[in-house]
Amino acid sequence: MDYFEPKTVSEAISILAQQGESARVIAGGTDVLVDMKFKESPACLVNIKRIPGLSFIRQNGNSLLIGPLTTIREIETNNLIRERFSVLWDAARQFASLQIRNTATIGGNICRASPSGEVLSPLLVLEARATMAFADGEKSVPLDSFFLAPGKTLLGARGILTAIEIPYPPEGTRSLYLKHAVRGAMDIAIVGVAILAASGSDGRHFSDVRIGLGAVAPTPIRAKRAEALLRGEAFAQKQIQDTAKEAAAEARPITDHRGTAEYRKWIVEALTKQGLTAAWEGATGKGVH
Ligand SMILES: Cc1cc2nc3c(=O)[nH]c(=O)nc-3n(C[C@H](O)[C@H](O)[C@H](O)COP(=O)(O)OP(=O)(O)OC[C@H]3O[C@@H](n4cnc5c(N)ncnc54)[C@H](O)[C@@H]3O)c2cc1C
Repeated sequence: MDYFEPKTVSEAISILAQQGESARVIAGGTDVLVDMKFKESPACLVNIKRIPGLSFIRQNGNSLLIGPLTTIREIETNNLIRERFSVLWDAARQFASLQIRNTATIGGNICRASPSGEVLSPLLVLEARATMAFADGEKSVPLDSFFLAPGKTLLGARGILTAIEIPYPPEGTRSLYLKHAVRGAMDIAIVGVAILAASGSDGRHFSDVRIGLGAVAPTPIRAKRAEALLRGEAFAQKQIQDTAKEAAAEARPITDHRGTAEYRKWIVEALTKQGLTAAWEGATGKGVH
């Protein structure tokens, strides 16, 4: 097997261009090394960990920029992310063990494009963008068009993810991530639900609601029909129930050894209800009637 340690993004890209489909990028290696043990033997590994300047969390105007080599632990311990992007912080703290969080990168989780990837539905509700570098230049796309299928993204075999850009949600926005797994953080999510909500000035309705679902479709998805049911409506138990049911209807889960499709839909409904209620109480300080 060939092994490369490029020192720049452009060097990494030209290696990928030469090696084609046989090359595999490696960052923290928590997915790639497991795959190499049990599934595949790539002809060439391109280790991007030695490229300086790909690990950062910094402000850029009205957005937060995160470098792809930033570890899940760095996200979990960042106070700005905890306060203003709490849905992402919530996902990071429910991610595997401390050892894995110290090694696994946010870029690896995104590029792996597993439907159950912990940070994906949080980034969808935050309306994040992915910046990618290719031989013919850089491209930035909304993350909801980045995922094509399980394990497949717009990067193909030739691109490198170089940054994630997240617009600041308005002050007063609440966001949270709920994970359902048999062994909590130590297990891959059976269902993940990300909620972001801002309450309207009259304190009676949400001015904005976003619902992201993980592990219930070939890619992470936004439950947009469910979101539309709540936007502008006076907030009450009936609306929460209808919205949660619609989110479950939008899920397209499979049955596997972790759970049946029917079970996953039921969990989507339950977690959406729980998440919306918590977001409402957090945003308004009031219970739901
Ligand atoms: C014991 C264990 C527990 C786990 N628990 C969880 C969990 O609870 N939740 C969860 O979501 N995941 C979990 N995972 C999966 C894994 O840890 C994550 O997906 C992790 O974020 C991958 O990051 P990495 O840096 O290790 O990626 P790597 O393994 O290095 O790479 C992952 C994929 O991304 C590609 N890649 C990486 N960086 C880039 C880049 N910048 N540009 C282009 N391609 C890139 C690689 O080619 C590869 O296809 C677990 C894994 C293990 C082994």
